[in-house]
Amino acid sequence: MIRAQFGIETISPGSMLRHEKRSGSALGAEAHGYTSGGGLVPDALIIALVRKWLNEHGDAFVFDGYPRTIPQAEALEVMLAEKGLLLDVVFLLEIGTEQIKERVLRRMICQGCGAIVSIGGRVQNAEQGCPRCGGILERRRDDTLEALATRMAEYRAKSAPLAAYYSSRNLLQKINAAQTASAVFAEIDAHLQAT
Ligand code: AMP
Repeated sequence: MIRAQFGIETISPGSMLRHEKRSGSALGAEAHGYTSGGGLVPDALIIALVRKWLNEHGDAFVFDGYPRTIPQAEALEVMLAEKGLLLDVVFLLEIGTEQIKERVLRRMICQGCGAIVSIGGRVQNAEQGCPRCGGILERRRDDTLEALATRMAEYRAKSAPLAAYYSSRNLLQKINAAQTASAVFAEIDAHLQAT
């Protein structure tokens, strides 16, 4: 939605790694050992991926799922400084564990166009196919309760400290993510318009 509204490119290391896995690359295979169980991929690998992306792209972008650790945030500061850029805003999407579980178990991804589709919304089951392009819907390998438990533990240990890190830099905006996608976007949009 941010991309559509503002024409800003999006970078998501998670989706880059899924793409690498599908293409059969060595990087994809290496990362899969971590991602499939819900563990974080080592910082050095993720930072190298982001550095390469930043070198190949312009000055306006949204990071989705990066940084997830303090060393990643520190590396980002350095990489942006090299481009003469500063972060405008950091969004923390807040939501309870039960709702996360429910969403994870309903989430499908279209093999064709990459759309994220929630079962029980516009489609009632995966067999109906992607509502956008008719492509095949599949579940992410890490969208299981077991992998989610690991992801939550990783989040608490390594990602949660980022809230204080960005709050102390006056960059943090908390968003109520326990709403519909359009209501979440409305909150984000209001902040971006004001930034
Ligand atoms: P996501 O698509 O953002 O949910 O990420 C899926 C998985 O990719 C995560 O559970 C991690 O294994 C890996 N991953 C994505 N982004 C990062 C990151 N910034 N640092 C470490 N691992 C990441």
